Amino acid sequence: MSFLETILSRSACLVGSEWVAADSGETIDVNNPATGEIIGSVPKCGRQETARAVQVAAASFAGWRARTAIQRADVILRWRDLIVEHQEELARLMTMEQGKPLAEARGEVAHGAGYLRWFAEEARRVYGEIVPPPVAGRVQLVTRNPVGVVGIITPWNFPLAMIARKIGPALAVGCPSVIKPASQTPFSALALAELAMQAGVPEGVINVVTGDARAIGAELTENPTVRKISFTGSTEVGKVLLRQCAGTVKKVSMELGGNAPFIIFDDADLDRAVAGAAASKFRNSGQTCVCANRFYVQDGVYDAFVDKFCAAVAGLKVGNGLEDGVDQGPLIDRKAVAHVESQIADAVARGGRIVIGGKRHELGGNFFEPTVIADATSDMSFARDETFGPIAPIFRFADEAEAVVQANDTNYGLAAYLYTRSIGRAFRVSEALEYGLVGVNEGMFSSCEAPFGGVKESGLGREGSHHGIDDYVELKSICMGLG
Ligand code: ADP
Repeated sequence: MSFLETILSRSACLVGSEWVAADSGETIDVNNPATGEIIGSVPKCGRQETARAVQVAAASFAGWRARTAIQRADVILRWRDLIVEHQEELARLMTMEQGKPLAEARGEVAHGAGYLRWFAEEARRVYGEIVPPPVAGRVQLVTRNPVGVVGIITPWNFPLAMIARKIGPALAVGCPSVIKPASQTPFSALALAELAMQAGVPEGVINVVTGDARAIGAELTENPTVRKISFTGSTEVGKVLLRQCAGTVKKVSMELGGNAPFIIFDDADLDRAVAGAAASKFRNSGQTCVCANRFYVQDGVYDAFVDKFCAAVAGLKVGNGLEDGVDQGPLIDRKAVAHVESQIADAVARGGRIVIGGKRHELGGNFFEPTVIADATSDMSFARDETFGPIAPIFRFADEAEAVVQANDTNYGLAAYLYTRSIGRAFRVSEALEYGLVGVNEGMFSSCEAPFGGVKESGLGREGSHHGIDDYVELKSICMGLG
């Protein structure tokens, strides 16, 4: 059986070193969002199976943390190498369950593997400190220790990279994990787990439980053995998990929703802005938390930008991500299509002008036309709510101060973008934007080297970079009297 056939036909979760079914025997079907076809099924687990996974994870903790950093790094690197070797199969699997074009899926596999390599390298740099003591005759040490069992809950838009970005630092510092992938895209997670086993990750250090999100989430957040929750998903669910974690005072990392402004000043390189805007908006059919959600274009270039942008959008090929040359796949499901339609209806009712797109694509199903809406105004739902679809509303502004006020007028604070040729403005506006991530003349900038994360209701903590380790360790202060 090929790797893909094994993954798609197994219908089992990984608990310890066992591939197991749900206690009830029930399963959940997984669809291809491009065709509606069922590509396989996974166990519908709940609290009990999750509790067992937490138990075996806890049992593996002492052995895994006792290894030296370089021994852990070697295992992570073997896993990373296997992921790279299986890039094509993992990319196809991802496109089948998630819908994104194959080229984007290949990119995500490479991106995910990059996080594992980065954190394998960081494993040897989890340094402590020796601090000058306040009185003579003492040594003051600060050590950094693995937090313990980590519960990892991930979304469907990046089924592989979001797991890699969380499990990389967990493994590097010595933490075992229980992963709950999104029900729409569990196979990427199960394929990663299969490769982890092949790479020699010890029994119990990585577990994957699929099924009932609420039940699994309740166990992960309420079980006192789990010491940390790392979540990527909606702000709404993030808030639920934060409340649930309060009962056992867990450490939390939350990578939540966004409502990214994309600001184009009169002095911008318009061609560069158009390329960045298209990449930021239509990647993954607009279904990323850093996708541009609101375009703010200065008066002087407004019409020119709309024309050039629409010309670029007209060239985007929509279709099944497995086919050659496709730029935009389907949306994840019917609910996503309905949400996009409701935002467009709201915009049109308030005076928005559809310049291109605006409706379901002729391919039917979950396909939607890449859409540009001019004359957007702050009373439209785009201004407040995340779109998570291929719709670009274009607002107009007169000066820098107005752009900054409008860009910051949201409860979210993940990514923001600005295009200008003025270095002074680039610094001023970057500083003034209340966001965790700012792209200046760049529409895509996520990398393992730089910290990723948001402010306000977009989240807590940072992933990637050397700071990404911090969320998985606790500081211990050791004061030694020298007697
Ligand atoms: P999205 O809009 O990307 O689907 P969600 O926040 O709904 O974002 O989902 C992100 C992840 O959180 C998924 O794995 C989903 O199954 C899970 N999830 C959803 N609701 C809950 C919940 N109540 N408790 C725990 N996990 C949940």
